[in-house]
Amino acid sequence: MIAQSSVQQVLDRAEIIEIVGQFVRLKKRGSNYIANCPFHNEKTPSFSVSASKGIYKCFGCGKGGNVVTFIQDHEKLTYPEAIRWLADFYKIELEETERSPEQKQQQLVEESLRVLNEYAAGFFEHSLRTEEGMAIGMSYFKQRGFSPQTLEKFRLGYSPEAGDAFFREAVAKGYNPELMEKSGLVKLRNGSHYDAYRGRVIFPIQGMTGRVLGFGARILKSNDKAPKYVNSPENELYSKSRVLYGMFQSRQAIGKLDECFLVEGYTDVISMHQGGVENVVASSGTSLTEDQLRLIGQLTKNLTILYDGDNAGIKAALRGLDMALSQSFNVQLVLLPEGDDPDSFVQRMGAERFHEYVKAGKQDVISFRLEIGMREAGADPVRKSKLVNEVAESISRINKAEDFALQEHYIKQAARRLDVEEAGFINLVNKYIRDRLDQEQRSRRNREEREETPELPSVETSGPEPLQQVVVNPHERQEWELVRVLIEYGHMPYEGFPGVADYIMDRIDPALIETSLALKIFEDYYAYRKAFQAPPGLDYFTNHEESAVQHKVTSLVHTGLEISPNWKVSYGIETVHGDMNYMNDVNSVCSYFELKKLKYIQVEILSRLKGEQDPDRLMTLLRMQVEMKQKEAEILRHMGTVIWKQ
Ligand SMILES: [Zn+2]
Repeated sequence: MIAQSSVQQVLDRAEIIEIVGQFVRLKKRGSNYIANCPFHNEKTPSFSVSASKGIYKCFGCGKGGNVVTFIQDHEKLTYPEAIRWLADFYKIELEETERSPEQKQQQLVEESLRVLNEYAAGFFEHSLRTEEGMAIGMSYFKQRGFSPQTLEKFRLGYSPEAGDAFFREAVAKGYNPELMEKSGLVKLRNGSHYDAYRGRVIFPIQGMTGRVLGFGARILKSNDKAPKYVNSPENELYSKSRVLYGMFQSRQAIGKLDECFLVEGYTDVISMHQGGVENVVASSGTSLTEDQLRLIGQLTKNLTILYDGDNAGIKAALRGLDMALSQSFNVQLVLLPEGDDPDSFVQRMGAERFHEYVKAGKQDVISFRLEIGMREAGADPVRKSKLVNEVAESISRINKAEDFALQEHYIKQAARRLDVEEAGFINLVNKYIRDRLDQEQRSRRNREEREETPELPSVETSGPEPLQQVVVNPHERQEWELVRVLIEYGHMPYEGFPGVADYIMDRIDPALIETSLALKIFEDYYAYRKAFQAPPGLDYFTNHEESAVQHKVTSLVHTGLEISPNWKVSYGIETVHGDMNYMNDVNSVCSYFELKKLKYIQVEILSRLKGEQDPDRLMTLLRMQVEMKQKEAEILRHMGTVIWKQ
């Protein structure tokens, strides 16, 4: 971890005008600077930078923050990575805080592998330009139509056929043979070392920041025994499930166009770039993992898969799609014309026609699955019933409130196509949702020994199933506002309580926090307080072991721009807000959660009222309904606010 003093040094030194000026052309306008926004496409500048305040803000797309968030956003880095980037820029040496011996060892190996890989990538690039490289490697790339700029952009290379050319040079440069074996660049056989990728063309696999994490190597001569592609083995630096080929070269286009194409191979990515389609990554034939989705999710939620009819790799990727659905990805598929792969297709069509084709040919993942499944099932009733279940399961993954209309659309469509009754199909979808909620709850309970949190009060033990899963609240913002208020003001006094954190705990039911990261930070806060008898400082979170936590808390607290507790927009409510005092913030967010809870209860009451025949129970429900309405009105009156938007 980077020592807090070093972080401060970087923050003190970094000039926002200087840093932003590295990436965009700034023009002085009054006391500020303006430019065309680097985060969205525009022709007239709406991006403004204030040197005195040290912040930037785009009035077009809303992006804003300080010098660190700018680097994070623009270069797609985590908070510590951005600090390192800035330290590098200003030649500031960072002091690292104490690590455990294991961490130190891991870091050391990682760093050594990184240096070795960088050296190797240079060696292979150079070898491509030798006589042998030109004759063999270069002619292959030329045949694929790759331009010199493309070769450079992707750092393509060649490993000479002589058995140990790389090994000998690396040893002469002082690299350790054992490390070379670990990296997979070199292998040991009968006591002697040889180059693992000899006679192959080389595709360096770069991480988000451009570091060479590993290599893919393609054979050129036909050889029955040798595999066409070989890859770096898993090691401290390279993990197949955590990288996507092309991420470094594509990250900015993905963010800007708000869409990511997924293809199978290295050459697909490279050809598409050369053809002018730069928002593309390759999964390299594995099914999409959670880590890979997280990488993409930092940039966009729109994932479009390009596949050709008989592409085994894409079929593998398809298996990861349920996960993508549950992470609110909008997943689309595009079938390429017969006989084409993304590589040949874009070369033939060019970028513009490619985009047109994709736009017209997009199919959502559920319809796709339906179509394939129906074709395969034919008239077989067993296979068809299996398909019904599979599709219901997939649809059940779409259960965030903002995707609700989409889920409904899918249900209608699937029920019609599968020729089943819609009501029954909805029940089936709901069953999968419930199963998963149960399972999540169970594993959460198993995972943590935590104090019992009060459940939402249940009106009756019998009656229809609770509707909680379908009234999930979209207002994630408020959950982040809660986290921000807790971290910023948790230690401050609050009348009648030891402090703000105690007050919050008293008023808010953590079960209402739906965003898992927000809940994690929330619980972390109290766990820390309990363990150390003192509230965690901001630096505890900004240097948190999980980069997701660091990143989020930094953007929440440092800029205060990411979340705006503007209820008018997010909830149809107006409220007093500003920098007047923290009590307002605390109260405002607590009230929100109380209202949210009341909403849940009311929805449940309503759903029960509909089916209730028994007059006594009906009266109880009606009484409760009135009571909840009164409570709600009271909170709203207390806040001096307006109306609920339905
Ligand atoms: Zn913008």
